Amino acid sequence: MHVFLNGKFVPKEEASVSVFDHGLLYGDGIFEGIRLYNSCVFKLEEHLERLELSAKAILLDLPMSRSELADAVCETCRQNGLTDGYIRLLVTRGVGHLGLSPKGCETPSVIIIADKIQLYPKEYYEDGLKIITVPTRRINPAALPPMVKSLNYLNNILAKIEAQQAGYLEAIMLNDEGYVAECTGDNIFLVYKGRIITTPTSAGALRGITRDVAIAIADELGLPLDANNLTRYDLWNADECFLTGTAAEIIPVVEVDGRKVGEGKPGPVTRSFLEKFRAKVSVEGKML
Ligand code: PMP
Repeated sequence: MHVFLNGKFVPKEEASVSVFDHGLLYGDGIFEGIRLYNSCVFKLEEHLERLELSAKAILLDLPMSRSELADAVCETCRQNGLTDGYIRLLVTRGVGHLGLSPKGCETPSVIIIADKIQLYPKEYYEDGLKIITVPTRRINPAALPPMVKSLNYLNNILAKIEAQQAGYLEAIMLNDEGYVAECTGDNIFLVYKGRIITTPTSAGALRGITRDVAIAIADELGLPLDANNLTRYDLWNADECFLTGTAAEIIPVVEVDGRKVGEGKPGPVTRSFLEKFRAKVSVEGKML
């Protein structure tokens, strides 16, 4: 495997960064997780736009233009002979001093890794996932806007550990008002009486690229969609529930906090979202 590291392709074993990089010292940096389907980098423009917005939000000057980044992403896939996979694009603040201030960090580091991924075992896409609410709350959007896809995932990692300790693969995170924010690496949707509802970014949800795809699918299916504050009660009493994320794609949820969702199996609306999603992935993006 070859990794793109600041303009060069280096073998995986040699792809290393300085211990003085603020990405390592402070989680000071941003990233995107992107999928490659059938030689098509799905929603590449949208990912690069979100990266730019994250960069602006944390006052980080990207050292490469959007088209340079797009070319580098595609070239990383080509160099690794991939037609399907998962791409991790990171920009760290760069090498600096030990203090918090990014002033001494002269050049951000750009890293692109392209590899294979299977987040959840295949059977969960057929049978659905069981999820649980965990105690760790999502960081207040006023403290760290959830729209910034930063390298600092400790909040979500703690929630993931809590889910795993309880024997579950994914966790629902509430915000500090007690409303549903999102899952540790996925956005959450429910279906209730023919309406599709997801949580708003103001509740602590990342503006997921797959969330936007699901919103477009709702429109194509002629289903009304709202981004509303949701309580756990709303999830427990939903007809259907599903998660969206680049790695997870669209995955049905059949149990929340020990309550069966609907019939306890993936419902027809979720199935039609999945079908539409699959039809889009190798078309709506940049071909290698
Ligand atoms: N929420 C969080 C916290 C995430 O890290 C992610 C990405 N894994 C998502 C939602 C889903 O976003 P996307 O569809 O852009 O992958």
